[in-house]
Amino acid sequence: MASNKKLLVLPGDGIGPEVVGEVRRIVDWMDKRRHVSFDISEGLVGGAAIDAHGTPLTDETMADAMSVDAVLFGSIGGPKWEKLPFNSQPERGLLRLRKEMDLFANLRPAMVFDALADASSLKHELVAGLDIMILRELTGGVYFGEPRGIETLPSGERRGFNTQSYSESEIERVARVGFELAQKRNGKLCSVEKANVMESGVLWREVVTSIAKDYPDVSLSHMYADNCAMQIVRNPKQFDVIVTDNLFGDILSDCAAMLTGSLGMLPSASLGAEDPSTGRRMALYEPVHGSAPDIAGQGKANPLAEVLSFAMLLRYSFDMGEDADMIETAVGNVLGAGIRTADIAAPGQQAISTSEMGNALLKELDKLAA
Ligand code: NAD
Repeated sequence: MASNKKLLVLPGDGIGPEVVGEVRRIVDWMDKRRHVSFDISEGLVGGAAIDAHGTPLTDETMADAMSVDAVLFGSIGGPKWEKLPFNSQPERGLLRLRKEMDLFANLRPAMVFDALADASSLKHELVAGLDIMILRELTGGVYFGEPRGIETLPSGERRGFNTQSYSESEIERVARVGFELAQKRNGKLCSVEKANVMESGVLWREVVTSIAKDYPDVSLSHMYADNCAMQIVRNPKQFDVIVTDNLFGDILSDCAAMLTGSLGMLPSASLGAEDPSTGRRMALYEPVHGSAPDIAGQGKANPLAEVLSFAMLLRYSFDMGEDADMIETAVGNVLGAGIRTADIAAPGQQAISTSEMGNALLKELDKLAA
């Protein structure tokens, strides 16, 4: 029977295919043990697509991405393609996907599994059990605003300039995603801007405040971005969902990511607009890390960021929160049992391979499903 859960898998380059391979094993497990099947197609992206087709993303793969319910992405890039002209680089494949799917909402959770709390640069008690979500607007703001450029003034001195700009509709659509996320989590949304010094921040605050009435079950607060940076390292557990613009989100999400200690543990999701007639939303899920050419092909990659990205896919594209919880619990239990890939192993602790981590997860899932 054909499944109504259409998934496009784009493993990409370097460790991408290795970590995506471990998710494919979980998908097979779900098929057998949970009787949940996906209609999966697989495509090439990045360097792999350049080698096969001379372009980092073919029109056919782009069309596939637009037609499925969710895209699971691995990672792209590597030294082999670094000398190509800028517009032919592997990264262009990912940028095209983000642009054409209009993925304006970037979700970056910062979760600290108890067993890894000592890997954080903050004290154990500040981060143990941390689970916050940074929602970053991804397609507007100062990175895209016009006018922009470098000009030469009459004095001969050069001036660089960019424009921070947000329309009401751009603010509203990402804020609504923030409220909806908070509804699915702990009911708290903190909106972050610099309304004290920026007009775009004043408008941001007004728009977010005006739509709060549609979400009476969410408690909304506002914070200036500089204070938020301080609070994230002072007392990160005070937050549930943070919604902010492209620039502040870029910085705050990296700051929050470091609370968790390792790049191999960080998932992300990028969402587009909801189609009002079908309720369907374009979505792409990917780990935060890159293709790690230094360890590619050696079975050393930590697959957990990709696995946790898949858990986000289940939660946000298919409303399968229970299955997502089960996968996240399996990850926590495996780590709790001291099972580690090299990137998260403490000094002297034995490190296992990518596929051994996959084996441990499947064993744990078996136990949880029993
Ligand atoms: P990277 O994230 O690939 O690697 C940084 C370091 O972290 C490396 O030492 C790597 O071995 C380690 N690491 C990363 N992921 C890991 C994992 N899952 N398990 C264990 N160790 C892991 O970043 P980089 O070295 O700056 O970039 C390498 C290539 O990846 C470049 O071509 C870059 O352009 C590309 N890149 C792609 C993406 C993407 O696909 N979205 C993101 C960032 C970088």
